Amino acid sequence: MKTAYFRFYEELNDFLPPEKRKIKFEHPFFCRASVKDIIESLGVPHTEIDLILVNGKSVDFSYIINDKDEISVYPVFESFDISEVQHLRPQPLREPKFIVDVHLGRLAKNLRMLGFDTLYKNNTKDNELIDISQKERRTIITKNREILKRNNVTHGCWIRSKTPEDNVIEIIKRFDLKNQIREFTRCLGCNLLLKKTEKEKIADKIPAKVELRHNEFFICNHCNKVYWKGSHYNKMSALVQKILRAL
Ligand SMILES: [Zn+2]
Repeated sequence: MKTAYFRFYEELNDFLPPEKRKIKFEHPFFCRASVKDIIESLGVPHTEIDLILVNGKSVDFSYIINDKDEISVYPVFESFDISEVQHLRPQPLREPKFIVDVHLGRLAKNLRMLGFDTLYKNNTKDNELIDISQKERRTIITKNREILKRNNVTHGCWIRSKTPEDNVIEIIKRFDLKNQIREFTRCLGCNLLLKKTEKEKIADKIPAKVELRHNEFFICNHCNKVYWKGSHYNKMSALVQKILRAL
């Protein structure tokens, strides 16, 4: 039997049982295994990792572990800047685009509300989620860490916070998206960008009261839903302000 020593840093400890958090611990192993396989068997998905040091040197996921190796594993740090080491995080996707798993519908709505391209259906199977993320270069957002352990998943994020409001704040912080927020530009129902429209063109789609009071209208060309700055808008606007303050 061989033994390797592991130490996980910062929020990667969220994935470990309490007795393994924030300390160096022994991990016995029997067969030839890559550092990726052993790290994931300990519960940490590879999409959460930016840097692995073995005996002080950076390695990639395919590194085969040896007896007595000392392994330090670091999360995706926005500010972690050591140019000598080999970062494992894939290049960030050029424009932030997401696909959200079935349990995070309200997060999907919140991301759309802030203008981020976000796919969501309440019946997407895991394989379909991964397929779409690859084809459309979308980051998977999920509470299911098993999805993020799949080899073919490159861009993913495991959600830690509990409420849909905190979820969206977590995503914006992690991907540093504050400056890319364009609130109320996207249809909350189908994710398409909204177009400005004339009152005359949509008069048959809105209540008479609204027609009297409002002059600015936006329409989704997919579902034909009309948006205006009414009471619902005011409520959401307060939520946007709350999110901005938390960032
Ligand atoms: Zn729509």
